[in-house]
Amino acid sequence: MSIPVAVATPLAERTYISALDLFKVGIGPSSSHTVGPLRAARAFVEALAADGLLDRVDRVECVLFGSLGSTGVGHGTPGAVLAGLTGLEVETVTRDDVARVTSDADSGMLALRGTHRIRIADGWLRFAPRELKPRHSNALTLTAFGADGEPLRADTYYSVGGGFVERDGDDSAALASAASPRVPYPFHTMVELLALCRANGLTIAELARANEAAIRGEAETRIRLAAIADAMEACLDAGLTESGTLPGSLHVTRRAAAMAARLRALDAEPTRDTSLEWLQAYAIAVNEENAAGGRVVTAPTNGAAGIIPAVMRHGLDVIPGHDDDTARARAREEFLLVAAAIGALIKSNASISGAEAGCQGEVGSAASMAAAGFAHLLGGSNEQIENAAEIAMEHSLGLTCDPVAGLVQLPCIERNAIGAGKAVAAARLAMNGDGTHLISFDTVVETMRQTGLDMSTKYKETSEGGLAVNVVEC
Ligand code: SF4
Repeated sequence: MSIPVAVATPLAERTYISALDLFKVGIGPSSSHTVGPLRAARAFVEALAADGLLDRVDRVECVLFGSLGSTGVGHGTPGAVLAGLTGLEVETVTRDDVARVTSDADSGMLALRGTHRIRIADGWLRFAPRELKPRHSNALTLTAFGADGEPLRADTYYSVGGGFVERDGDDSAALASAASPRVPYPFHTMVELLALCRANGLTIAELARANEAAIRGEAETRIRLAAIADAMEACLDAGLTESGTLPGSLHVTRRAAAMAARLRALDAEPTRDTSLEWLQAYAIAVNEENAAGGRVVTAPTNGAAGIIPAVMRHGLDVIPGHDDDTARARAREEFLLVAAAIGALIKSNASISGAEAGCQGEVGSAASMAAAGFAHLLGGSNEQIENAAEIAMEHSLGLTCDPVAGLVQLPCIERNAIGAGKAVAAARLAMNGDGTHLISFDTVVETMRQTGLDMSTKYKETSEGGLAVNVVEC
């Protein structure tokens, strides 16, 4: 085994974001507004239990601040908080579980951590969209009270995008550093990643695989990546068969299944190439499942969850050499590893949160990750992969988040179809060059970060600007 050649600053100063941190199975419709709050609420009841306070709780209150307060209802936050309070886990919870817990709460009862029954009255949840916490705009405070009305515990959590959660009082940088796994090839910028690849004679996929294997072993890594890919494909296939109307006030008609039926008919004509239309149908299928509260893989968020599965499936459809199961399994793993390396760089150096950076942070990030994965499947060099990721993000800069009626439907679902097309176009464009180009990926990510800082909060998952105020609900 060769000894890794280091090109970066020491390991202890670095945090590593694993592919299996970025890609998580959860429920729709939003990683920051559904997955994160569910995890926060669950952490809260676990902390109460650990302190021996659970049995003394008489009632709980929750305040949703900033973006969670603005669009929490449309994004399913109340049900997610209730599910977390009952101890349900995001990896296994279903939309039926959330419906059952919400129904129980509507009738005034909640089983905290599944065991301790409390009353839950009107007013347990308060929305504070105008109150912004300095650490992050997606904040929620949970307070548990005893029978005599005294507060037993209060915690504020931040849902920082992609289902990641931080707690007030915990130093996120210190926690991340302490929890950061030791990997042989730590990198913090694309310059470092490319230099490590060059110094060690590795592709980005090989380097990422070595890092993941150092955390949990090669076999376990393969099993878990396959499970993520399977969950993505199951969601996509479910979306291609479901019809009807999506939940919420917009009454949006699902269209992926009808698109698929039409495309199957067109496929009977041998001269008709429908592959790019299938790509769009795949993305729409995933995001319709997400909007319906189905099981979805955050990639890197739920709102942008359709792009990576769609581009991965499209790559397996159209790029030769993936006919047998072994080749297909390998291609899926490598696609996810390369995409995750890009996502980790974006999350570390900018943001994958719509509430923090607008939709450039969600759909832009997913398109950039998918472009890199697709360029890898096309046989791209490390430099061509970097170029593909750069192009997709460069042409997502400034993309705002303005979900109509606070639902992750318009423009989100269609935007994933367009983002998937952008990812494929970016990879194809990069493959027509040799990887040499003027604007680097690191520069584009820094530009995205600055653009997100400059962006009005109207365009950061608050539904207070853009399409959200110009589309009239019927
Ligand atoms: S507009 Fe983009 S960032 Fe906003 S909710 Fe929709 S997908 Fe997410």
